[in-house]
Amino acid sequence: MNILSIGAHPDDIELGCGGTLIKAAREGHNVFMYVLTRGGASGDPVERTHELITSANFVGAEKLWVDNFEDTKITVSNKLINHLEYFIHKSNPDIIFTHSAQDYHHDHRAIAEATMEASRFSQNVLAYEVPITKTFNPQVYYDISDVMEDKLELIKVFWSQRNKLFTRTNAVKGLAEYRTFQSRLNTQLTAVESFEVAKMCLGKDFEPVKLPQQPLPETISRNVELDDIIEHSGKEAKQTIAENGLGMQYDSLLHRHGE
Ligand SMILES: [Zn+2]
Repeated sequence: MNILSIGAHPDDIELGCGGTLIKAAREGHNVFMYVLTRGGASGDPVERTHELITSANFVGAEKLWVDNFEDTKITVSNKLINHLEYFIHKSNPDIIFTHSAQDYHHDHRAIAEATMEASRFSQNVLAYEVPITKTFNPQVYYDISDVMEDKLELIKVFWSQRNKLFTRTNAVKGLAEYRTFQSRLNTQLTAVESFEVAKMCLGKDFEPVKLPQQPLPETISRNVELDDIIEHSGKEAKQTIAENGLGMQYDSLLHRHGE
């Protein structure tokens, strides 16, 4: 399957569905990550982009795209919808993960709304939560018990955000445990990521279905300035990490920050 995850800021995707993506990539699915801003309102955008690249390597993402919308200034606009539609088409997803429409952060809400417009020809859209999301009512649960420790490592990649309460291990783990209890799935499970259904289409065997992709209108591709977008393949770099160990890279991050 092709899985596209969409986030406003570096660390949103990882907090919301990082465990799901790690597990999906290990199972051989193609994971794509599209981040709209470089997080300039809460840190150095160069550093935060570097953290995103490290994250994509850890996940083993087929592609990471980092756009250049201004942090905290995202509104539903023709440009936003065009960019989302362009990368939705490029990744041809079976499932899209995006922000929740009721999210606490206005950038998140704008992307949630714009995703619904941009994904009008996609069949399956799920919304994720982050520890600060309010008014979230999940219907879909995905077991990440076997990759929870990996998710915690993934969040630590976002070193520049280490003082934010919601990136702390207790917050991330606590939410996953809370949703596990709430899901009433199985007492063997210890961690789940949960999702709201924004859109879902079932096939004849009741599996999520994907219909053939339609051509992307030229009016959309013409409105996307690719020069301003960073593209990175985490899948190739993943091999390097597997050979060298992520620990080395994390150690170098710690070293870089003088700790
Ligand atoms: Zn965010």
